[in-house]
Amino acid sequence: MIPNVKRLDTDILILGSGGAGLFAALHAHKASADLSITVAVKGLLGKCGCTRMVQGGYNVALAREDSVERHFMDTIEGGKWLPDQELAWKLVVLAIERIKELENELGCFFDRNPDGTIHQKAFAGQTFDRTVHKGDLTGIEIINRLAEQVWARDISRLEEHRAVELIKSIDGEGIAGVLFIDMRTGEYVLVRAKAVLLATGGGPTMYRYHTPSGDKSCDGLAMAARAGLALRDMEMVQFHPTGLLAGAHTRMTGTVLEEGLRGAGGHLLNGAKQRFMPQYDPKAERATRDIVSRAMFAEIAKGNTSPHGGLYLSMAQLDPQKVKSDFKGMVERCADCGFDLAGGLVEVVPTAHYMMGGVEFAADCSTALPGLFVAGEDSGGVHGANRLGGNGVANSTVFGAVAGDTMAQWVSGREFLQLDTGGIEAAIAACERPLRNAAKGNLQAVREKLYGTMWEKVGIIRDASGLAEAQQELAQLEQELDSLKIGGGNRAFNLTWHDWLNLKSLLAVSRIIAAAAVAREDSRGAHYRSDFPDSGPLEASSYTSVLDSRLSMKPVAFTRVKPGQTLLKNAV
Ligand SMILES: Cc1cc2nc3c(=O)[nH]c(=O)nc-3n(C[C@H](O)[C@H](O)[C@H](O)COP(=O)(O)OP(=O)(O)OC[C@H]3O[C@@H](n4cnc5c(N)ncnc54)[C@H](O)[C@@H]3O)c2cc1C
Repeated sequence: MIPNVKRLDTDILILGSGGAGLFAALHAHKASADLSITVAVKGLLGKCGCTRMVQGGYNVALAREDSVERHFMDTIEGGKWLPDQELAWKLVVLAIERIKELENELGCFFDRNPDGTIHQKAFAGQTFDRTVHKGDLTGIEIINRLAEQVWARDISRLEEHRAVELIKSIDGEGIAGVLFIDMRTGEYVLVRAKAVLLATGGGPTMYRYHTPSGDKSCDGLAMAARAGLALRDMEMVQFHPTGLLAGAHTRMTGTVLEEGLRGAGGHLLNGAKQRFMPQYDPKAERATRDIVSRAMFAEIAKGNTSPHGGLYLSMAQLDPQKVKSDFKGMVERCADCGFDLAGGLVEVVPTAHYMMGGVEFAADCSTALPGLFVAGEDSGGVHGANRLGGNGVANSTVFGAVAGDTMAQWVSGREFLQLDTGGIEAAIAACERPLRNAAKGNLQAVREKLYGTMWEKVGIIRDASGLAEAQQELAQLEQELDSLKIGGGNRAFNLTWHDWLNLKSLLAVSRIIAAAAVAREDSRGAHYRSDFPDSGPLEASSYTSVLDSRLSMKPVAFTRVKPGQTLLKNAV
């Protein structure tokens, strides 16, 4: 019997209000203003998620000397030949349209050169300086303008509504709606929809040091896995080399100091204040994130660290005035934590930043579940083994827009599907579980253990025995969490309940990450196995795919270019 559940209907339901969710809403509305469109989000629209946190900028081939082919080759080579080439191609081609839409239609202002052209800066791992930005606070510019445009249209909002389950149709053949908890009251809300977009932005917040916003706990990925969708490349978790390290007492620890700092000539120093990156890679600090993070992890393992157990970032060898003007936000963030970025040293540590893995999807954003679409960081396949800095927000805006266009077409002439009431009852029972349990326990202890297991055994450097231990520890932690009681007297803004739900999603997805990491017996991009340090033959590249806890390796289709070839003309 379903308890008192508030019910709503909408043609298109969008989960998440990052770059993917908001672009989808605007494009669907543009395609057909008569549609009812609802954006449902765990936080406040325009104020949550990671697109708002984008610092460095947006990769796009705009300059005359650059080309989509070059952006594509950088993406494929950076992704160690694992990206789905059709998705990567769509990314680089449509990024040009989206950046123009952002400036010319939606009102963003990006930094310009003296001649009036858009300024594009250097980002690591790219052969051309193609990162469009607004100082070092690009995401605020993008999300503020997108949110204003959404507010100005007839698009409904469900804020502080947490999606907890994708509800299928009674025959299981399609998606019929989504179950939410209204976090402000603790009541359940059931929204029927003809099309649903999963755009909850992944978020590897199961690691001790992490960058994403606190509202992100892999809910979308956990829901997708439960709904029987395949997740690909889940072992590929990107660590950003320069997370701020300011002690355990502050949430600023783990937050990111942007890539452009290394692009502009920043150096990494060990505890003895000596530069070490040139010994690891000819590109030194401008090598890709995986290489720099691994080198840092190795230096930290040698024990030659800064006071908080990390390393140092130095910009002092550059012009301090220029650092202050080019990286105003970063300078202020460091000053808040007692560091002088422009003239001194800042303590840093690699920090979990981005999940390349996600739901398998087609280039029109459809998934294997009819009516369910995916875009942004919840999706998998665009980046392969490594995401280039600047390709994340391009990914969410490009595929968000594609999803909006596709969903507008999909819902035309369709009826609502009949909801599977058994699925709703089961989902509510699962959410109620911690409120009904008998044994009190310590949620924070579960979180700390999860952080430790993922950081030490499923993190930057992995091996078979550590991964096997991690799998056992994660299974045990899930049991611990499942039996833990939390106080449910007042459901309104019951953040302990939501913490429990966050951990539930994080544990489910951590187990998938660990399983995929066990299966990949080679080292590619973000995934490094010390017991299998070679990349394996690129021509035989395959990706991991997890479906209903079963793992398979699927061959990558080289639809545009094969390893050893290039799309660039006149390449030497
Ligand atoms: C600090 C930082 C800096 C970055 N800098 C760059 C950069 O310079 N360049 C770049 O390309 N990329 C950068 N990235 C990555 C980039 O932010 C992401 O790739 C991209 O913005 C993801 O967009 P999205 O729309 O998929 O998700 P997000 O923007 O994260 O939005 C996710 C949304 O889903 C909502 N949500 C989550 N769970 C639920 C739920 N259960 N129910 C309902 N709603 C839910 C969230 O509240 C949020 O609104 C950065 C990331 C971080 C963390």
